[in-house]
Amino acid sequence: MMAKHLVIGEISNGAFRNVSFEAVAAAKMMDESAEVVGVVLGESVASVAEEMVQHGADRVLTVESEKLKEYTPDGYSQVLMEIIEQEKPDAIVMGHTYIGRDIAPKIASKLGSGLVSDAVAIEGGSTFIRPIYSGKAFEKVAIEEGLQFVTIRPNNIPALEKDTGKSGNVEAFNVEVKDLQTIIKEVVRNTSTGVDLSEASIIVSGGRGLKSEENFKMLEDLADVLNGAVGASRGACDAEYCDYAMQIGQTGKVVTPDLYIAVGLSGAIQHVAGMSNSKIIVAINKDPEAEIFQIADYGIVGDLFDIVPKLTEEFKKV
Ligand code: FAD
Repeated sequence: MMAKHLVIGEISNGAFRNVSFEAVAAAKMMDESAEVVGVVLGESVASVAEEMVQHGADRVLTVESEKLKEYTPDGYSQVLMEIIEQEKPDAIVMGHTYIGRDIAPKIASKLGSGLVSDAVAIEGGSTFIRPIYSGKAFEKVAIEEGLQFVTIRPNNIPALEKDTGKSGNVEAFNVEVKDLQTIIKEVVRNTSTGVDLSEASIIVSGGRGLKSEENFKMLEDLADVLNGAVGASRGACDAEYCDYAMQIGQTGKVVTPDLYIAVGLSGAIQHVAGMSNSKIIVAINKDPEAEIFQIADYGIVGDLFDIVPKLTEEFKKV
């Protein structure tokens, strides 16, 4: 019998987070012949749901409710559990985002299933590779029995190419969303350039070397030109140069951009834990002995206050 893989998509600001499409690709990698069923929850999501089909899902189930406008653990788990009970999937895949980190263990424990979290690659359909020890090593994990539940790290498993010719196969899933115990009163979105840090393909990240909140603006200018996002070390956040929402590292966000430009940060192990899997790392630091140079692909030894404005001007010309 054909396997069924459920992919839980995520909407942010009215559009899919790219990791939703990467999860569809992951579900296909696990079993090319499986039926891939997308799931989208939100207030008005039906109009965009088709995009999951265009990225490879066979069909998409939507649940629209004002109560699902923002993520809540009780609202999402109630609805997802009903969908899982009805659809009886063989596997569930979703992004290792703040929602995935929260809801996946909750649902896995309700189902009594295993969970592979933060997978960065899939081997042979059922072996998942995930970083351990703050990214210093990788382990291979397989769920040998029952439901396979996996969260995937954004920016690691490429999404399938979008086929805009595909349409349809979106159906409303009928479920009554119960009253929520968690009420979201206000959502404060804090991204300086508007590009989502965890999915950005270019990140310009600053540390204590920036010396002030005002100087951090310099990084925004560079990130704007590159269409990237601005991140930070905890040193910079602690010094109040920027918001903690921008912190990258062991106790901040884990990112895997194509290009990570580390500016005036030393490369402490706790910072490196959140960015060492970036595809290309460029470090700018005045100290040639700075630890960050040990993991950098390209290093610029010098004063960031000279180098960053020059880079911004040069990239503007491209
Ligand atoms: P510093 O280490 O002070 O480095 C500043 C760098 O700027 C230096 O290398 C200096 O040479 C360079 N510099 C200064 N002036 C210039 C200039 N003009 N031009 C060029 N370079 C210049 N940290 C994180 O980042 N993320 C985490 O998630 C995190 N979690 C932690 C969890 C725990 C439990 C603990 C104990 C610590 C954690 N830390 C984390 C903190 C971490 O250990 C470091 O203290 C922090 O990363 C240092 O920040 P920094 O690199 O900005 O500052």
